[in-house]
Amino acid sequence: MARYTNAVCRLCRREGQKLFLKGDRCYTDKCAVAVRSYPPGQHGQGRRSKNSEYGLQLREKQKAKRYYGLLESQFRKYFLMAEKRSGQTGENLLSILESRLDNVVYRLGFAMSRAEARQLVNHGHFTVNGRKVNIPSFLVKPGMVIALKESSRNLEKIKANVEANAFRQPPRWLEYDPNNLIAKVVALPTREDIDLPIQEHLIVELYSK
Ligand code: SF4
Repeated sequence: MARYTNAVCRLCRREGQKLFLKGDRCYTDKCAVAVRSYPPGQHGQGRRSKNSEYGLQLREKQKAKRYYGLLESQFRKYFLMAEKRSGQTGENLLSILESRLDNVVYRLGFAMSRAEARQLVNHGHFTVNGRKVNIPSFLVKPGMVIALKESSRNLEKIKANVEANAFRQPPRWLEYDPNNLIAKVVALPTREDIDLPIQEHLIVELYSK
């Protein structure tokens, strides 16, 4: 699956806020948003922000895409999926994005960023209902059980991540057992469960034009 491979800090600077794409570094004073709080590029310092309705909608969509590390085609696919579900499309969209296996792995604290979580899933370190799943876009559903594979429990990087994230509360739609490194999906995530500062109605307005 295609993915964005350029310097991710540029994405945060473009949005003018931290998107926490790099893991540990995001929490230090080396964070590029803290150091250079203007958009990237030769004319970044002089660039005026777009305040048009379209500009605001576009930025909100870009921000959501970047939080979850998706390209346009993937994001659009999730939007179409969200439209088909009952309820509010914007909330459905966030719920679907949040249900991706790479996001679940990140939320449970096995990875410091969604990009790292994606890599861990790709490398086959997790099971869903006892079977290895190495597809980051796999959508979890209520009743499914996500676990770190037995053979991956001694990997230094994962052990360090779990330790560093021990203070983090997993979302309430995931019932997490930290002793066994296993989690059960008890519900689909709702808007209340998603702590990202995204105005999803702007994304719906953009795609509804
Ligand atoms: Fe964004 Fe993290 Fe880079 Fe800061 S360090 S600009 S939060 S990716």
